[in-house]
Amino acid sequence: MSESTVRIGLVLPDVMGTYGDGGNALVLRQRLRMRGYDAEIVEITLADPVPDSFDIYTLGGAEDSAQRLATRHLQRYPGLQQAAAKGAPVLAICAAIQVLGNWYETSAGEKVDGVSLFDVTTSPQDTRAIGEVTTTPLLEGLSAPLTGFENHRGGTTLGPDAKPLARVTRGVGNGVGDGTEGVVQGSVLGTYLHGPALARNPELADYLIARALGISPTDLTPLDLPVVDRLRRERLRA
Ligand code: GLN
Repeated sequence: MSESTVRIGLVLPDVMGTYGDGGNALVLRQRLRMRGYDAEIVEITLADPVPDSFDIYTLGGAEDSAQRLATRHLQRYPGLQQAAAKGAPVLAICAAIQVLGNWYETSAGEKVDGVSLFDVTTSPQDTRAIGEVTTTPLLEGLSAPLTGFENHRGGTTLGPDAKPLARVTRGVGNGVGDGTEGVVQGSVLGTYLHGPALARNPELADYLIARALGISPTDLTPLDLPVVDRLRRERLRA
């Protein structure tokens, strides 16, 4: 790995990686390599401290008990929080939104303190949200609808420092009745979309890549990938 290698931290795939969310790191690496950048994925497991020196971080979804283990680990080794404070882009999927929030309540009614990268709180809802989601992005720089698959019981309420990532046009999203989906706070983005989200939403992948490289997404070489476009069209019709 050279000095200029873009390092993608896949955080706790051993406990946070349901529905193939680790694929988000693969998409980031592939889109970087196709543009001529050196890029590597570094897995950070429960056996490792969390480094603060990576260029991008991704965290996947998890079941309640696995989510608890991850929360404890991130509190013990605050490298992710330190990297975010320096402006490193972070993508948090589903349970990871909850872990990065102020607190969340599990389905069993236990309240767990999060790591407070997001000004959000999460409580279990009466019905589980399962199915396809389509949204209109609210984040500047994104224009294409975001799509994904959701499966969560937690409903997330945004506090004043957290902004929604998108507005729901189909599905549930954050699930507390305000029609929002996902969270944005500084360089940290959260979404309930599995898919993996970045395979289904390449614009979001390029947003994170550009941020990691310190350039505008419009400065990135466009990639001609018909298979990705076809997947997008299929999902929008589904
Ligand atoms: N355990 C969390 C919930 O049900 C997150 C689930 C997930 O990551 N898919 O809300």
